[in-house]
Amino acid sequence: MRITLPLLSTAAGLGLTAALLGTVPAATAAAPQAPAQAAHVGFEPSAGSGEDAAANRAFFEAVVKSVAEKRAASPSSAAAVTVYYSTTNAPSFRSQISRSTQIWNGSVSNVRLAERSSGADFAYYEGNDSRGSYASTDGHGNGYIFLDYRQNQQYDSTRVTAHETGHVLGLPDHYSGPCSELMSGGGPGPSCTNAYPNSAERSRVNQLWVNGFQAALDKALEKASQR
Ligand SMILES: [Zn+2]
Repeated sequence: MRITLPLLSTAAGLGLTAALLGTVPAATAAAPQAPAQAAHVGFEPSAGSGEDAAANRAFFEAVVKSVAEKRAASPSSAAAVTVYYSTTNAPSFRSQISRSTQIWNGSVSNVRLAERSSGADFAYYEGNDSRGSYASTDGHGNGYIFLDYRQNQQYDSTRVTAHETGHVLGLPDHYSGPCSELMSGGGPGPSCTNAYPNSAERSRVNQLWVNGFQAALDKALEKASQR
């Protein structure tokens, strides 16, 4: 179990505190603070990491909230839910991220991924971390994906990227699953190169973005009307 995690050094090193990923209104972004705790879900069932529903939920909610608030601010936008990401801080992984986006956009219908240089709902980061790659929140409710260099050499890099992106779309880890399951992550070992979600995972994401997103949108609209 890994529900809370002192992400201070990592977040500071990534420069997350100042940027806030550009997703929140200026009024709340004015005073960045080091995050006290953050949700964290990794690629591998390594020491100290584990399948953690609470962490995954926190991460998913962060992304959904960002999307919902943006849509609430401009209600004329299209019906299809688009989640925007930034690759500015993961330049070495642009091709894997692009491939992961193609895979997901070809696999699910109720949510789309698209790149955007500013005002993204989540961001990809790259670097070295002994914990490997993971999806996390920065303590301000902003989601991001960290891609670890070493792990992306050991494992199929597109699988790692598509797996972490699966967390953005709301899927939890399931390390005991087979290689055909994307969210089994590093569980089946480095020889597993499958980067596609299976049919159950596709259905789950479609369901989440019909039901889960509507609830988040209602919350965001409620909040907007109280201002
Ligand atoms: Zn994972």
